[in-house]
Amino acid sequence: MEYPLLVMLLKDLVILPFQEIKLELKDENSKKIIKISSKKYNDRVLIVSPLNMGTSSVDDLPKVGVIAVIKSKIDLPNGNLRLTLRGEKRVRVLEYESFSQDILASYVTDIVLPKFEVTGEEVIKNKLKDILKEFIDSNPSVSNSILKTIEENNDLSFLTDVVTSFLPLKTIQKQAYMQEINSEKRALSLIRDIKMEIKYQKLDEKIEHSVEIKLSNEQEEFYLKEKLKEIEKTLGYNTKNDILEYNELLNNLHLDSKTEQKIHNEIKKLECMPESSPEISVLRSYLDWILNLPWHLESKENLNAKNVLASLNKSHYGLESIKNRIEDYVNIKNINPDISSPIICLVGPPGVGKTTITESIALSLNREFAKISVGGLNDATELVGSRRTYLGSLPGKIIQALRKCNTNNPVILIDEVDKMVKDYKGDPASTLLDILDSNQNKNFIDNYIEEPFDLSHVLFILTANSKDNIPYTLYDRLEVIELSSYTVFEKLDMAKKYLLPKIYDDFKMSKKLVMKDETLIYLINNYTKEAGVRNLARVLRTLVTKVITSKNESLTVTTTDLSKYLKDDVVELENTKITTSGIVNALAYTDIGGTSLRCEASIYNGEEKIIVTGSLGSVLKESIQVAISYIKEQGYVSNTVFYNHTIHIHLLDGATKKEGPSCGVAITTALLSKLLDVPVSEEVAFTGEISLKGNILRIGGLKEKLIAAYNAGIKKVYIPATNESELANIPLPILEKIEIKLVSNYETIYNDVFASKNSENNIA
Ligand code: ADP
Repeated sequence: MEYPLLVMLLKDLVILPFQEIKLELKDENSKKIIKISSKKYNDRVLIVSPLNMGTSSVDDLPKVGVIAVIKSKIDLPNGNLRLTLRGEKRVRVLEYESFSQDILASYVTDIVLPKFEVTGEEVIKNKLKDILKEFIDSNPSVSNSILKTIEENNDLSFLTDVVTSFLPLKTIQKQAYMQEINSEKRALSLIRDIKMEIKYQKLDEKIEHSVEIKLSNEQEEFYLKEKLKEIEKTLGYNTKNDILEYNELLNNLHLDSKTEQKIHNEIKKLECMPESSPEISVLRSYLDWILNLPWHLESKENLNAKNVLASLNKSHYGLESIKNRIEDYVNIKNINPDISSPIICLVGPPGVGKTTITESIALSLNREFAKISVGGLNDATELVGSRRTYLGSLPGKIIQALRKCNTNNPVILIDEVDKMVKDYKGDPASTLLDILDSNQNKNFIDNYIEEPFDLSHVLFILTANSKDNIPYTLYDRLEVIELSSYTVFEKLDMAKKYLLPKIYDDFKMSKKLVMKDETLIYLINNYTKEAGVRNLARVLRTLVTKVITSKNESLTVTTTDLSKYLKDDVVELENTKITTSGIVNALAYTDIGGTSLRCEASIYNGEEKIIVTGSLGSVLKESIQVAISYIKEQGYVSNTVFYNHTIHIHLLDGATKKEGPSCGVAITTALLSKLLDVPVSEEVAFTGEISLKGNILRIGGLKEKLIAAYNAGIKKVYIPATNESELANIPLPILEKIEIKLVSNYETIYNDVFASKNSENNIA
């Protein structure tokens, strides 16, 4: 995979994967690089250490760099930027290009090396560990803390990087290690370097011995003090200066007197603490957090409704409901600036634009944006932090997001609220409710920060795939806006007006692809299978890349070209014809949107039992029992056919979990089709649950199901009559193309599909 990153050239300093370094940046350009990387590149920057900083051409720059994660950044009162960087991984630089006049960007790709023989790797690893132990044993000033780390991890690449960053090697040696992508070669030169170090060490000791001089007490004290200063300098610590900085930061924050006093006391504590105290780094990191929160920093909101709407229309197709809601919000805010923010929850399948429209909302309102994912979260402390007394404790995700935004009124997207988990560790949903509730969040207290922070200016937007799984306590307080799947024609429109222009823009292309609508539709139907357009955007991007890098003069793309350019992207679609009995189309509503799927029924001699396959939910198992009892009671077939027979029901597309009542009608029809040996046309689909008496019950997700049927080319759909009122919300092109049959009792379907079975063998 290729990705872009900004480049930071480091002189005299090397960062290796897994290594954490602290530095202070004075230079405006470097500060700019860090700020842009934080905002646009997910806190990642490419560190390149050229052997010669005076390098005039980018061609001379190393082709290997290390991606570093910006773990923390603090604007110091003296104008410098204090940074903590952690090396993430070594990458290959494909290309350097200029991002702006003074900033260099790069395209990088992961390094994949063939694994060498396991036995060889083992020998090298053991040798490296042994020689390192020998080095540490013979050198009392070197901590042995690394031994545990290397014992616990057996990856050679990891070992070489960790050991390199640990050893007192020269910068030039470290640069060579940084640029060597082959971990085996790195390990061998490390072994050589450590051996040399041990030799020097022994030689040094010998000389020392022969010229031993006794130091006077004063000389010793002077020597130790100088050494301590040096250590402090290396670690970037200088308590006196820091205390001045902390106090200055505190004065500039204008906090309420109680909080100010509390922080003041903490700074005092730092002043009295001996530099060797283990608590000192805990206290420093607390002060760095609390003094760098955007207590009163606010971005000026854009409340020009016309302007906001135009910006949303420019970035996103459709999605009228959320766009209108934001327009309303702006209009109301103009009348009453103190109105509390709504808690909007966007519910819809993946790829329909929930995340990106939220980002656009932030942009259009001129607010900062941050995303917090709560999918799979079972521990509320992740949201509200852990107490400072715990080692390695940190503020929760909310405070972290605010610090990242550096304003107190950002738009915070809380992703996947339907996937939070309630267990013995607590109920994150109720914690989240406290965070969102404008009556309580004025005084939000994070366990780590301990002081109240006002969250009432934040605009929270939540997302979920399914309404049903949002914890009830939370659901009650949300303003739910549903975003539905797109039809093929909406996707076509979107590809032409939004997705392709965005790609052209990203690639700075002046020429455009020439593609007929039918080619695009073919691409949508055969290369993507999704409710949203995420894959479509990806496939289009691949196509554009391949077309512009091919030797072809023309940018015209035909249906046959697609198979040439997109060999790996074709998706398997169930558009095979139904020729036998026992197969019908069902419509289901899953987490990933509506889907049309095949329901298959088999019956054969054997033990009298029912088998169900295809990741069916327990509710569907009951639907099968009901279908069988109904068929038996109605006497549609002789009851004897069930004796000594096994019935097997399978719902294809087994990867998606199918829950909820809505497949009973399809199951009954598939069973009857099998028992009566009457095939059912593949152009018909069924949705609805059935009661023992054949009554057809109301379903959820009608719109999503009809969109799925429409996209699958289905011409007729049987739906429960009780859902009739919802037809008003179904897009017109769908109603024009699909014949909707409203049914209240299964008998109607039986009459339509099977009653004339004797006269014809393919009905409906
Ligand atoms: P979600 O959060 O719902 O999973 P995303 O917001 O991540 O979806 O969108 C996935 C991709 O589809 C993005 O590239 C986005 O730009 C594009 N996309 C989705 N819906 C629209 C739309 N209505 N208009 C323009 N692009 C869209």
